[in-house]
Amino acid sequence: MTEFQSAVFRWYRRSGRKLPWRGERDPYRILVSEVMLQQTQVSRVLEKYSAFLAQFPTVHSLARARRSHVIRMWRGMGYNNRAVRLHRLAHSVAHTSGGILPQTEKELMDLPGIGRYTARAIMSSAFALPVPVVDVNIQRFFSRVFWSMSTLTDMRPLRDVEAHALKQFPPRNGYEWNQALMDLGATVCTARTPQCDACPVASHCRSRTGMKRVAAIRKKSEPSFYGVPERIHRGHIIEHLRGLRNGHSLPLAQLGKAVLPHFSDRNMKWLRRILGQLERDGLVRVQDDGTTPRVRLA
Ligand code: SF4
Repeated sequence: MTEFQSAVFRWYRRSGRKLPWRGERDPYRILVSEVMLQQTQVSRVLEKYSAFLAQFPTVHSLARARRSHVIRMWRGMGYNNRAVRLHRLAHSVAHTSGGILPQTEKELMDLPGIGRYTARAIMSSAFALPVPVVDVNIQRFFSRVFWSMSTLTDMRPLRDVEAHALKQFPPRNGYEWNQALMDLGATVCTARTPQCDACPVASHCRSRTGMKRVAAIRKKSEPSFYGVPERIHRGHIIEHLRGLRNGHSLPLAQLGKAVLPHFSDRNMKWLRRILGQLERDGLVRVQDDGTTPRVRLA
């Protein structure tokens, strides 16, 4: 084992995070944690993970659940499309392979909504297969250690880092290695404030002293309505519909007034467009009988 690897393992055994999905071997439970962690902070996932699994303990139970129930249980996680994707994925696994997740990268990536990172995370965590995983935290950490980054926002292309991750991958304890790198990237070598003084591999790091802080790159402006990003309006709409009793719907005008101050008929075209997007994403259903259009969770 190299000195770098020993330092990483030592640090992890002493300071790695205790997380409920750590050490988990059930592929379905790993999958749920990975989908939740894609766009939500660990602290928030910790609040929701157990409750979600208590409701849907197996891939079959999730596949059988009503979509609206899954969306309700996703409350507080944001990016609700992931609830729909996870539900569709459970359906696909339950109906094509008897509820058993495959073990190869290709077969996993053939499932709807699973990319390379998630496929490898499942292979490593659930099946103890010796594959390196590279999420954005590991990409940043490896970029800084093995290349000289000039600013805090620089990173090597994913392809380069994946190739290097393969070279660094230890012959044993691959699962622990992957978890350790994720923790180092998430808690020590963070995007904005790397803790170089507390870093177990500082003596190996080529970027330790040289990175400049640069102004955050301004994100492209996103479509908004009355100064509020449409993404936020979509979230408010789903949140409001979650509050309805199961199977209940709401007239569109009533929904409009609930989510937009001073809603009037002039805003109906906008509301219809947003609901059209949510309907295409599988989150809501609009029922239009020609008199009073209504909407409910899908
Ligand atoms: S020394 Fe600093 S920049 Fe280098 S890996 Fe450690 S925390 Fe990151």
